[in-house]
Amino acid sequence: MADKRIEGVNMKFELEEYHRGIKNEELIADLQRVASELNKSAVSRADYDEKGKFGTTTHIRRFGSWFNALEKAGLQKTRTPMNLPEEELYKNLEEIWITLGRQPHYREVQKPLSKYHVGTYENRFGTWRKALEKFVAYINNEENKSSEEAIKKLEVEPGTRHKTKRGINWRLRFIVMKRDHFKCKNCGRSPATDQTIVLHVDHIKAWANGGETVLENLQTLCSKCNIGKSNLDA
Ligand SMILES: [Zn+2]
Repeated sequence: MADKRIEGVNMKFELEEYHRGIKNEELIADLQRVASELNKSAVSRADYDEKGKFGTTTHIRRFGSWFNALEKAGLQKTRTPMNLPEEELYKNLEEIWITLGRQPHYREVQKPLSKYHVGTYENRFGTWRKALEKFVAYINNEENKSSEEAIKKLEVEPGTRHKTKRGINWRLRFIVMKRDHFKCKNCGRSPATDQTIVLHVDHIKAWANGGETVLENLQTLCSKCNIGKSNLDA
């Protein structure tokens, strides 16, 4: 019997007609309620389908799109998962990876470990696997540019003795930590086994003394071991 279907997951869609009499204000208020319960500045359709009183299709029909509904509810701010730059998603992935000392698993990608839920990655990249693949490709691209061999071709920048900048970008930082197995090269401690450990990437030959920002001249140190080196302007 057709009626049976409305008891399943499609219930909210099947009940569409029933919500025809609901006022716009009620739809908006319920959207705001879900946002505040989830403590989010924007609510995904999946979130609302789970927690909302109505159904996302009701909002979409009423307001033209889910985006418009969020905007009406004052929820469509600049920092929404939809508008996040890919780079921000990669950086978050990098942080989780460093904390775990290995590739994060699907179910681990959620708060508090991750700023963004795995669903945000799926929305952006199609699947979690594809997100990982794009991340790795992005990182590998950096690796090709950051070796002693690669910078041989570069000119020394005018006014400096350097071919590279002093700052270590997050991609290079990740490559160095991965090479060093996400452990301090000095004491061997890691965030994966000790939550108090924070890892840094350090110039072996200080940049101020002519050291370059290349893989061969960088190493992973924990913040405690790095303190001893900080006076050397590493
Ligand atoms: Zn250490």
